[in-house]
Amino acid sequence: MLWYFDLQDPDESSVSARVKSVYMIADANGVVKEGSPTYQAMGYDSPAYIRSVLNSSQPLWQEKRGAGIHYLIRAFYIYNDDRTHKFYLAIGTPLTNNDKVLTEFTWLCIALIPLLTILGVATGWVVAGRALRPVIEIATAAQRISGSNLSLRIPERKAKDELEYLVETFNDMISRLEQSFIQVRQFSTDVSHELRTPITIVRGQLEVALFTAETAEQYRDAIVTAMGDVERLSQIVRALLLLSQAETGQVILQLQTLDLVETARNITEQFEIPAEGADVTISFHSDSATCAGEFDRVQIERMLSNLISNAVKFTPPGGEVRVGVEQVNDHAEIAVRDTGQGIAPEHLPHIFDRFYRVRGREEHASPEKGLGLGLSFVNWIVKAHGGTIDVTSEPGKGTTFIVRLPFHPDVAGPTVPQDTEPNS
Ligand code: ADP
Repeated sequence: MLWYFDLQDPDESSVSARVKSVYMIADANGVVKEGSPTYQAMGYDSPAYIRSVLNSSQPLWQEKRGAGIHYLIRAFYIYNDDRTHKFYLAIGTPLTNNDKVLTEFTWLCIALIPLLTILGVATGWVVAGRALRPVIEIATAAQRISGSNLSLRIPERKAKDELEYLVETFNDMISRLEQSFIQVRQFSTDVSHELRTPITIVRGQLEVALFTAETAEQYRDAIVTAMGDVERLSQIVRALLLLSQAETGQVILQLQTLDLVETARNITEQFEIPAEGADVTISFHSDSATCAGEFDRVQIERMLSNLISNAVKFTPPGGEVRVGVEQVNDHAEIAVRDTGQGIAPEHLPHIFDRFYRVRGREEHASPEKGLGLGLSFVNWIVKAHGGTIDVTSEPGKGTTFIVRLPFHPDVAGPTVPQDTEPNS
């Protein structure tokens, strides 16, 4: 075979030198015509392989090994000058460099994997540490908060992320807990105060009677006065017991069909005599003949009594109390209006709290001091019926309580003990 290349061109010379070092030529029958010693040492290709290359439109590739060196062999066919015969030509190139590169790459990978693993673990450690630091700070701050220092808050991070949301939620929860603790503490203080005052008075009266009373009449007077305060004490205890039972869900409404028009008219009539005594006009009005629904009779009567007795109690002589019941859409609306002394705006949000009384005011119709529990009961009764209560008031002009009750509250169960009388 003749090799044509430009002897002056260093590139062509080196290519031809490389090609000539690994090659073989065979005829169409697979008979080897020429081959480099290297190819021969590796073993010439079989006639079957040669035929498959001659019949293939694409060059075929194979790998061969000789003298410890890998060769990549490209086999294809060529024609003689007058294109009468096909010849098989295979040219190889050593893969020494590729093998070297591959080996170096493999070693590099082996060396890098532990290094990268260590680097990955270290980075993960640092990143996780940073991400978790605020969580640890939150946990530490939360541990400092106890029942005795609920005013503490977890410092806000001023970062609009999920942790900030967690901190806000946590702080809100602590605020609610603090509010509950304050209420419980206030309640215990109020209860002790309410109970201590009559006990001290009774004790004082009995001591005075013991040391100064001489006649049976004087003893009797002392005992009668003491009895009045003892009655007030048991009234407070009964009311508190009932209220706590109600608020802890132990008292469940006993629903029955009840006409609110008839009930409210009856309760209003019961207050005609006390109102007359206080020189207060009391009246009942309803546009509807009936306003029937499912209600707990005892509780509704208690609610009306509390509202009407307050209205009469806090209305000066010459004033007026008006009670009304109307059916508005799907609920009943009970209104108790008075032209009394009213409630200052700063007191309005608290009047439903237990023992809350507006200080320094004279109660006209009743010289008896209220317990400050009546509206707490009213509030519970309304809520238990699934209703709402609104109050509007103008000092010196009067107060209006409006109770809205659904006709069919979604509650039922055992009733309240009937012997208790928690009217304030
Ligand atoms: P009590 O009547 O036993 O004091 P309540 O819980 O019934 O307790 O009422 C709480 C406070 O709300 C009353 O002490 C009074 O100051 C105020 N209040 C309630 N109803 C009226 C009203 N109709 N007019 C003016 N003040 C009222």
